Amino acid sequence: MSSFKAIIQTLFPSTCACCNEVLAVGERQICVRCLNGMAETHFGGMHDNPAERRLMGHMPLVSATSVYRFQLDGTVQHVVHAMKFHGCTELCLMMGRQMGLELLHSGRFDGVDVLVPVPLHWLRRLSRGYNQSELLCRGIAEVMPRQVLTTSLVRHRYTRQQSRQQGSRRAENVEGAFRIRDVESLKDKHVLLVDDVLTSGATLNACADALVTVPGIRISVATFSIAM
Ligand SMILES: [Zn+2]
Repeated sequence: MSSFKAIIQTLFPSTCACCNEVLAVGERQICVRCLNGMAETHFGGMHDNPAERRLMGHMPLVSATSVYRFQLDGTVQHVVHAMKFHGCTELCLMMGRQMGLELLHSGRFDGVDVLVPVPLHWLRRLSRGYNQSELLCRGIAEVMPRQVLTTSLVRHRYTRQQSRQQGSRRAENVEGAFRIRDVESLKDKHVLLVDDVLTSGATLNACADALVTVPGIRISVATFSIAM
């Protein structure tokens, strides 16, 4: 480390995106304590896991998994908030790589051709500056090299934050909000649809409603976390 960098580091030490404690040497984005506190689902290699059961019946699904358990006020929720609302783009990439490792080890996603993030409306993307699901895809692709398609599926209707909607309102809120912009890029492809949290599944179902209109498409889903 250069002496200039060392001085900057001392004056402005990096803090954990989750608990705000100063990071120790070798820690990146998130401290080891928080990283170890993230409850894994171990759904990766599991057929008929709770993520699949939540989505099955709403879409023609090949495989689905969620990597971590999202619990209110838990570590995973703090990580999701940091990824979504605190501009932690490096953390998104890092968590994407974690997802990629899980997908790779499971062996159930080897047939995936392309990665498609759940899109944000362009206005929200503009105000946030990035799409956290797209960065998760980029992290996954570092581990599991696949093309990331960011303009094939678009959110053409501005919707309220799903986390602020209750029950059946979630489905109404996003119904018909997505459409395909580039059929050719998705035709006959096995698509892995990627999002940060699986809650009711309404957003992913609405994406799938648009995706199933593409000839020959197959859909799998991977989310960073699942609310249980
Ligand atoms: Zn921490």
